[in-house]
Amino acid sequence: MTPPRKLSLEQWDERWRELHRGGLVEPAYGGPLSRHVAEEGDLRLRHLAFDPSPAALRLWNFLLTENQRLRQFRAGGGRLVGVMKDLGTVPVMAFALPAVRAFYPDGAWWTPCLMECGDGLFQHADRLGIDASFCPVRAMLGAFETGGHFPRPDLLVCSAGAVCDDFSAIAQRLETLGYAIAWWEMPRRRNPDEGEPACTLPGGLQAPQSQVEGVRDELERIGNLLGGLAGCPLTDTLLTEGVRRANQVRRLLQTLRNRVYGSPGAPLPALEMLVAEMLAIHFCSDREETARVLAGLLAETDRRCREHQWVLSPEAVRVFWVNPVADLRAMNLLEDWGGRVCGADFMITHALELIPEDLPPCEALARTALADPMVGSTRDRADRIIAQCRQFAAEAVIVSRIPGASHCAREGEIIRQRVRQELGLPVLEWEVPSLVDPLLPTLGSRLQALLETARLRRRR
Ligand code: SF4
Repeated sequence: MTPPRKLSLEQWDERWRELHRGGLVEPAYGGPLSRHVAEEGDLRLRHLAFDPSPAALRLWNFLLTENQRLRQFRAGGGRLVGVMKDLGTVPVMAFALPAVRAFYPDGAWWTPCLMECGDGLFQHADRLGIDASFCPVRAMLGAFETGGHFPRPDLLVCSAGAVCDDFSAIAQRLETLGYAIAWWEMPRRRNPDEGEPACTLPGGLQAPQSQVEGVRDELERIGNLLGGLAGCPLTDTLLTEGVRRANQVRRLLQTLRNRVYGSPGAPLPALEMLVAEMLAIHFCSDREETARVLAGLLAETDRRCREHQWVLSPEAVRVFWVNPVADLRAMNLLEDWGGRVCGADFMITHALELIPEDLPPCEALARTALADPMVGSTRDRADRIIAQCRQFAAEAVIVSRIPGASHCAREGEIIRQRVRQELGLPVLEWEVPSLVDPLLPTLGSRLQALLETARLRRRR
């Protein structure tokens, strides 16, 4: 049997026609991928390579139709919450209320990449005083002002405190433009003092109970605002059910990650895994459909594993990937040059952890929020990366730097040192801009050097 080969956009259109001739039935948001170029200007799709399965087609179409979904929900009388920065907590609360949907305006981070900077969002942010010394999330400012990328939310919620300087400055600038924001405080996670009441967070870290209680009170306050928006209080019963449904999605993702990252060859490409992981944070505005999309990817993965149908052969160098990439094409490039992703920390690891179901729901969510890798020390984050590198037998680590991101100034070096010290693996720090194309020659040689070093270590 021929192993699955990745397809260009053009090839996917041909495959789409073939699948339809063979009787493929798609959800309402389905269709050929190239229409997103024509209809929404998602030019970057022309330069990506995609997994050839119907499950991947569904994933991409689901991702690329989110704004339509939000507008339809609004048109049907639903209320929209723009959630900023927490990546995975407040959406669980919002989705517990049937009349509310949450989305991340932060997702505009990827719009300049998808539209190959034809959107003008960075220039818009420049004019508002937020220039290229900030991370690509500054695109969000332009998206709010132009109104062409996502609907204006009925409520805006943003975590403050232990967040990066970039987001803090950009969200404050947004407020000065007339967008009212409900802020909630996230403290910087610290280790409990000796004898201080403490608890274990999802993922295994410890935090002082006082911090958990502080976050819980803040989330309860946000819960009241959400209930006011929905016209129906967010009761513990509703929230408990919301947590249970969110955990169904998280369980599917955990299983998918374990299968894909733990397999000898890669049954799914890195790019589709990046997109799949991102569904965890707000379910791409449809929680139930997210579960169906993930179940489809899992079924495809299981089938390929049973049949040893690898998209990347077991010879590919196993790379652990740190941070999301501003240009999605970077995930393809690693594979073009002989690597495969065998684990990742896309800064949303807390959104992949199961939310405890044996605690009052706001307390459970507070513990999960405090497990965010970006609200504690980089050393904690590095330790988790090391544990995952061990679990998935990584042979190299790539820390992709985010242009302008304040946390990237130091974290890469800390992670590199810890990984070298504990595992002796080669580590590459690589700044991935919103469009990598002009850097391809230098990136290629740096990636090849990393992969070659990892291969040489196999012979020792
Ligand atoms: S600097 Fe990093 S954490 Fe902050 S918004 Fe940008 S990518 Fe997110």
